[in-house]
Amino acid sequence: MEIQDINQEIRNKSLNRMDKKSAAELSASWSGEDLLYSGKGNAIFVILPTPGCAHALSASGGCTMCSYIADSPLENVSSNELVGLFKENLLKHDIKPKTAVKIFVSGSFLNPDEIPHDALVGILQILSDEENVEEVVVESRPEYVNEEVLRECCDLIPDKIFEVSMGLESSSDEIKGYKINKGFTNADFERAVYVIKKLKTDYNITSKSYLFVKPILTSEQEAIDDAVKSAEYAEDIGVDRISFCPATIHKGTLMEVLWRRGSYQPPWIWSILEIIKKVRKIIEIPVIMDTAGFGSRRGPYNCKKCNKKLKNMIIASNLNQSIPEEFECECKAQWKVDVEYSDLTRSTINLTRNI
Ligand code: SF4
Ligand SMILES: [Zn+2]
Repeated sequence: MEIQDINQEIRNKSLNRMDKKSAAELSASWSGEDLLYSGKGNAIFVILPTPGCAHALSASGGCTMCSYIADSPLENVSSNELVGLFKENLLKHDIKPKTAVKIFVSGSFLNPDEIPHDALVGILQILSDEENVEEVVVESRPEYVNEEVLRECCDLIPDKIFEVSMGLESSSDEIKGYKINKGFTNADFERAVYVIKKLKTDYNITSKSYLFVKPILTSEQEAIDDAVKSAEYAEDIGVDRISFCPATIHKGTLMEVLWRRGSYQPPWIWSILEIIKKVRKIIEIPVIMDTAGFGSRRGPYNCKKCNKKLKNMIIASNLNQSIPEEFECECKAQWKVDVEYSDLTRSTINLTRNI
């Protein structure tokens, strides 16, 4: 059975079990300190409901680790409602000087089947009136990135940086194809980055790459090596910023099925730390490490004694782009064994945790 068939079967089962929620119930927002291109500032995150990621709804069943489709109403949401929900969520927050607004649509903001054109225009018009907003960040798969739509977006917010974040996940086409089921290759990604780069002469436009740490069927050592290699690749082809997403187990995914059967474990936080240390030494563009799910049963994990301390160290290093200091805990020896022997055992779980 092909990975796409297994993936689709799992996805369909989980969608059938899903409680239907309204667009208003599915929209959300929060804010917090963040690193902007101009330095430390504030970010407002807005989640908007859409009919769902086109890739996840296609016959491929979407990416093996992603359940964002569960955050979609799976039906069309009118442009009026989308713009209204965006405004309502944005205005819940104090828009301080030096603010970035990050719009998450659990799919592609630039796909008109997910965000209708008039909703895109309405949302960017609202942002253009907000003086304190310096950056507007949206997410999209590379196939929806084209000169026409980017020019239109940038013209709507002329005084702000417009950033397109794309989930490259890994610079290996093999990993993207067989472990993530991403549905595009490096060549597709490079084309999109090139379109963005070309527009830099006319606009304040940037690209961001999401990189996924530890896909399914990957050992601890392979996960570290792939993350570092992928960051180098992203910088080489001209991406402006990198955001690492260490694996957390989403419900209704192939990753969850493997985890439940004891064939997958999210990475150690030590591995995440190792990635940051290596990457910050060789990469010049800003690199952010997402710490969502750290220390939880479904997320990156070390031990109860050090989970929180390391999470806080990583958050601090995101804000000043520093290399975290050396840190010791008794669980570090276990991690070292897992990394050292992962090539030999070919294990995708952390064997020392199961002793
Ligand atoms: S990771 Fe992105 S492209 Fe993949 S299924 Fe999720 S929303 Fe769609
Ligand atoms: Zn520990």
